[in-house]
Amino acid sequence: MNLIKNMPNALNLAKSLIACKTVSSTNANVHAAKKSQFDKSFELLKEPLQNAGLVVQVIENGPYATMIATPDGKPKAKIWLAGHVDVVPAEDEQFEPMVNGDKLFGRGSNDMKGKLMFLINAALESGKTDIGFVFTSDEEIGSPGTKGTLLKLEGEVVILPEGGHDADLILGQNGNIWVQITIHGESMHTAKSGVIDNAFASAVNAGLHIYNLAHTFGYPANIIPQFGEVTSESPFNITPKNAVIKVDLRFPSKEYETYFMAEIKKLPKMFGVSYEIIDLCPAWNVPLIGETPASESFLLFENIHAEVFGKRPTKKIGSGSSEASYYTEAGMQVIMPKTECGNYHGEGEWVSIEGLYKLQEAVYKFIKSYA
Ligand SMILES: [Zn+2]
Repeated sequence: MNLIKNMPNALNLAKSLIACKTVSSTNANVHAAKKSQFDKSFELLKEPLQNAGLVVQVIENGPYATMIATPDGKPKAKIWLAGHVDVVPAEDEQFEPMVNGDKLFGRGSNDMKGKLMFLINAALESGKTDIGFVFTSDEEIGSPGTKGTLLKLEGEVVILPEGGHDADLILGQNGNIWVQITIHGESMHTAKSGVIDNAFASAVNAGLHIYNLAHTFGYPANIIPQFGEVTSESPFNITPKNAVIKVDLRFPSKEYETYFMAEIKKLPKMFGVSYEIIDLCPAWNVPLIGETPASESFLLFENIHAEVFGKRPTKKIGSGSSEASYYTEAGMQVIMPKTECGNYHGEGEWVSIEGLYKLQEAVYKFIKSYA
């Protein structure tokens, strides 16, 4: 990689990226309709990488694309700098980036298009060569199209600056399953004996069954069930024909994921309900109580983070990053540093501009001493 004298203006390019309406969708046709927006964001990232002499490739799986850049075009690097260009849905005005004081506003400013150019600059500034870049387009929907590509990457460390507060450093991730249980009028007539013949009650019973199973593990298994929504369309005195219940399960390891998925599959037979998995994100690197597993690279980053941000980061267990799961499954240490931010996935998403430069400095220093 060449050390280039005039590095890209990261803030301007961050704004150009925010302006791309890269809302990902699990519906392949809906996602494909946004292709020009995704292409444009990849073009913006491609230019500084190609100027630095990297081989840039876009790997497509249906409408979902992954951009990979390495010195020789092979999917191998000691350190990967990673991120995603897709965002969660937002009103049109959120795609108009705006700076107010230290805050850069806009959808994806923090999560996470705003950060990508700063990662690129950190690597360019370091002059190190064993660095790869991987940018995906479907993280917010669980990486359905890019998962296969991510699992094939080889390397030691992945730096993935997902959303969160500047004093946090994510050590591992609880997995989650979001299951939506539904029951319709016909189903209540076929409900098994022992189950109350009422759509609403059947849905609640099915949800409670999962909820209670989760509770049997107790502390310190760290299984957290949550009833997110319970609805039926029924007046006070009429047995409802339809009911919906949503359960959010959090768990610390693959064993629990397998166990709960098997239990969820039994629900139709046990309660006459149907279900849909809305989201499934694997767990990775969750420590047991009292244990703090941290690799050499993680400890190095932790110290650099403390020096650059002027305070020790709080090591936390996160949730919901599908990419982080797959990089971990591929055998790499994932480091998820944060910058000060607000309202990500909500209205008025922002990231601290000073925080972006600090992130760049921390990543630069890490590359300098580790690569
Ligand atoms: Zn994200």
